[in-house]
Amino acid sequence: MTRDTWGRVKEQLKASVGQNNFSAWIEPLEFSDLSDGVLTFLVPSVFMGNWVDRYFRDSILHEVNASGQSARRLAFEVRETANEAESPAAPAEEAPRPARAADPAAEAQARSLSAFAQTGAKLDEKFTFSSFVVGKPNELAHAAARRVAEGGPVSFNPLFLYGGVGLGKTHLMHAIAWELKERSPEKRVLYLSAEKFMYRFVQALRDRDMMGFKELFRSVDVLIVDDIQFIAGKDSTQEEFFHTFNALVDLRKQVILSADCAPGDIEGMEHRIVSRLQSGLVVDLHPTSYELRLGILQSKCDYFGQQFPGVQIGDGVLELLAHRITGNVRVLEGALTRLYAHGSFMHREIDVDLAQECLRDLLRTSDVRITVDEIQRKVADHFNIRLSDLLGPKRNRVYARPRQIAMYLAKALTDRSLPDIARRFGGRDHTTIMHGIKKIDQLRIEDRQIEEDIAMLRRALGGQDAQA
Ligand code: ADP
Ligand code: MG
Repeated sequence: MTRDTWGRVKEQLKASVGQNNFSAWIEPLEFSDLSDGVLTFLVPSVFMGNWVDRYFRDSILHEVNASGQSARRLAFEVRETANEAESPAAPAEEAPRPARAADPAAEAQARSLSAFAQTGAKLDEKFTFSSFVVGKPNELAHAAARRVAEGGPVSFNPLFLYGGVGLGKTHLMHAIAWELKERSPEKRVLYLSAEKFMYRFVQALRDRDMMGFKELFRSVDVLIVDDIQFIAGKDSTQEEFFHTFNALVDLRKQVILSADCAPGDIEGMEHRIVSRLQSGLVVDLHPTSYELRLGILQSKCDYFGQQFPGVQIGDGVLELLAHRITGNVRVLEGALTRLYAHGSFMHREIDVDLAQECLRDLLRTSDVRITVDEIQRKVADHFNIRLSDLLGPKRNRVYARPRQIAMYLAKALTDRSLPDIARRFGGRDHTTIMHGIKKIDQLRIEDRQIEEDIAMLRRALGGQDAQA
C-alpha cells in the first residue's frame, strides 16, 4: 500500500467514524508499512495506539480491505520526538518453568485451574485502590471494599455494592480482587460479570457438564459477580446463581456482588434471592459531588500527563469539567482524554476556551436547567425553614430574607420573567419580587454573610447565570 492509497482509505474512514473521531484519532496516524497482513502506523504515544486499536481497528481493517489491500491486524510504533531520550527497555526475563509433574492429580488440578482462568474476566490494571479517589459519595462503599479486601474472617456476606452507571462499582470490585491476589496468592479469587456467569451456565448445560460447572464455582474462595441485575428475569440462570451463592455463603466464602440498583429494586429478581442478598452488607455509591469529580480529574491528570508529555492543561479547565459534566465518571474521563488528545495534536495549551470548543457536545447535554422550584427548596433547606414558610405570608426577617434570596436566585439562574417568578412565590405582585432583588443586590455589598450564602447556594444548584 502506498501513502496515496492510505490517503484514500482515510477519506472513507472519515465518513464511517465521523468527523470528531476522525480528527482526534485517524488523522494523526502516519502510515508506515503494510506487509504480511500487518498494517503499521507511527503514532505519538503508546496510549493513542492502544486506543485506536481498541476502538477503530475494525473500521480501519474494513476500509483497507475494501480498497483491495489485505490487512489482518494493526501495529503501532511510537514516533520518536526530538526531546524524548529513549530509555533502553529491560530485557524481558523469562521465569524458569517448573518441570511438569506427570501424575494425574496434578493434571486434574491443572485442568481445573485452566477452566478457572477461562471463566474469570481479566482484571483491569488501572482499577486499583490506589487509583480510586475517595469522597463523601463513595466513602462507605470504599471502606467496605477495603475491609473485604483485607481477606480476614468473613464479617458480612455478601457485600452488595450498588449505584448508577459509571460511579465506580467495577473499579472497586477489581481493586478488591487485585488486593486479595496480592495479600493471599493462594486464594482462588474469581471475578466475572453476571453475563459471563450466564454464558458459562448455558455452555455447561449444552455440554452436559453441570458437575464441572458446580465444582468450579464451589471451589472458589472469593466470588465476585458484577452487574447481577443482568440475570434478573432469566429464571434458570437465576436459580443456579442462587444455589451457587448459598453454597458459598454456607462455606463461609466471601461473595461480592454489584448491581445498578438496590436488591429490592431489581425488577424480576426472585423474592427469596432478594432477601438473601439483603442479608449481608448493602452499600450504595452516591452520585458524584463537585469535589469528588475535581479530585478524580486531578488524579487522572497525573496519569494522562505521563501518556501525553508536554500537554498543558490551563487554569480553570478541570473546574469547568467538574462543574459541567455531572453524570458518570466515564464521561468525565472521556472528556479529559479528548482534551489531552487535542492538546497533543495541536501542540498548544488547553485553556478554558479550547476546552469549551472541543467539548461542546458534552457540555451542552449536561447543562442543567435550574427550576424556580428547586431554588426554593434548596434555599429553604439552607436556612432550615419550611418551604411553606418560605412561600407564605410571614414577614418576620427569618423568613423574609431567605425569601428575597430565593427571588434573587430565581432571577439570576433561570430565564423566567418577573411576573412569572412572582406567580411562583405564592402569587405575589411582581413589584415585590423587584424590591426583593434590589434589597439583596444591596445587601450583598454590605453583608459578607449574605454574599457567602448566595455563593454557596449557587454552587449547590450548579448554577451558571442564565444571561451568561
Ligand atoms: P460502574 O461499574 O459503576 O458503572 P466503573 O467502575 O466502570 O463504573 O467506573 C467508570 C470509570 O470511572 C472507570 O474508568 C473508573 O476508573 C472511573 N471511576 C469511577 N469512580 C472513580 C473514583 N472514585 N476514582 C477514580 N476513578 C473512578
Ligand atoms: Mg460496571
